[in-house]
Amino acid sequence: MDIFAEIRERVPIEQVLSSYGLQLHGKRCKCPVHHGEHLSASVYNNKLHCFKCNQSWDAVALVAELDKLSPVDAAKQINDQYFLGLTIGRAATPEERSRQQEAAKAARKRRELDQAFQAWEQRTWATLSRYYRLLKQWRRDYAPDGPDDLDRLDPRYVEAVKRLDYIGYCLDTLENQNIEWRKLFWRTHRIEVNQIELRIQHAG
Ligand SMILES: [Zn+2]
Repeated sequence: MDIFAEIRERVPIEQVLSSYGLQLHGKRCKCPVHHGEHLSASVYNNKLHCFKCNQSWDAVALVAELDKLSPVDAAKQINDQYFLGLTIGRAATPEERSRQQEAAKAARKRRELDQAFQAWEQRTWATLSRYYRLLKQWRRDYAPDGPDDLDRLDPRYVEAVKRLDYIGYCLDTLENQNIEWRKLFWRTHRIEVNQIELRIQHAG
């Protein structure tokens, strides 16, 4: 693996962004390259993409762009800053090489877990959005017509009234909270999300 690919694998772009003082809102942030006021950039596949610049940067490309360095010098700077122990510009000794391979393996494992988490987030977003729309529809369609109906409320109406705010809160968490919160959400809500998936299937 070449040095650039190895850095891309081992250094989370979020970490690079925070070292430049950039704050993520969910997966989005202001673009550090064109200095816009809006959250036009987003993190995907360990890269930063800006819709306004219409460009993507991995860790090396971003550091090179922001610090006006050549790609090799940016790689060296990242290597020092994150203690990656890569040998740049000379051949690695066998010990260095085996240490690097261990580190690369651990990083690959981490990336795989990240990708699995991203897939879960996307599926969860789709499930909860669908449930949210369904609840809104139920609240409208099965609302009691008058006081006489209050004794025999439609269970779908009751479910909608009980849960709409809460599901809205869950969607807001997935969209706007940082990665630690979203992982906490996964730990505490994944069983419930499975149940909602089943609930939607049986809702017809
Ligand atoms: Zn931009």
